Amino acid sequence: LLEVTDLGKSYGHHTVLKNVSFALRRGERIALIGPSGSGKSTCLRAINYLDPPTAGDILLEGRRIGRRKNGRRMSDLELAPQRAEIGMVFQHFHLWPHLSVRANVALQPQKVRGVSRVEASRLAEEMLAKVHLAPKVDEVPQRLSGGQQQRVAIARALAQKPKLLLFDEPTSALDPELVGEVLTVIKELAGEGRAMVLVTHEIAFAREVADRILFMDDGRIVEQGPAKDLLDHPQSPRLKQFLASLS
Ligand code: ATP
Ligand code: MG
Repeated sequence: LLEVTDLGKSYGHHTVLKNVSFALRRGERIALIGPSGSGKSTCLRAINYLDPPTAGDILLEGRRIGRRKNGRRMSDLELAPQRAEIGMVFQHFHLWPHLSVRANVALQPQKVRGVSRVEASRLAEEMLAKVHLAPKVDEVPQRLSGGQQQRVAIARALAQKPKLLLFDEPTSALDPELVGEVLTVIKELAGEGRAMVLVTHEIAFAREVADRILFMDDGRIVEQGPAKDLLDHPQSPRLKQFLASLS
């Protein structure tokens, strides 16, 4: 489904991603773990060209993201339909405060996919029901808890009908008692066989949900493998050290 090859990103002389390569099969779930500043967010943002990579290739179903056949960078207008195939959920929810929950979810399908207003509204209700927020469709975001707001952001990503979901620490801005409801929704999506890349500090969650884990340090993938193998039998000193620092 997704093929990332030799991805690199530099800010001036500061290289923050180096030769990152991995592939994700249809229905597969990958967790990306690693210390703060190791490049996890940069990697996710590079995949959908929010933050264009400075090297490497990204293929989604064999089609190159962000670049035309001649290698030139696509315009934002050309990129929009490609980005729509990749749903992204951030640490902070980035909802429009002046719009209802329903309108927040319906906006992108109308704007990017040309779905009619009525159909987008119906789709929004369906996706909000999926994240267990059917009763809240006409609220504004600020009347919701952080966990509810994050579930709206997940519904918004789902309304794009994406082929792939990217989560960047979706629970790390939440009060501890609100983490569970968001993780439950992500687990349900995983249970539907959706492909996802999940950046998380919740190692127990990564073990439960991810098929494979990639450990990043200093802009590189230092180690990768099946979730339980990697967590129970870390090979590299850096991963051992990282896991020890968490417990
Ligand atoms: P965290 O766990 O804290 O979220 P991370 O693994 O997501 O960390 P990134 O946010 O990807 O790490 O950052 C990787 C490196 O890139 C850091 O050294 C950071 O300072 C640098 N960086 C990120 N964005 C920029 C930017 N816009 N300009 C310059 N440097 C940046
Ligand atoms: Mg980050």
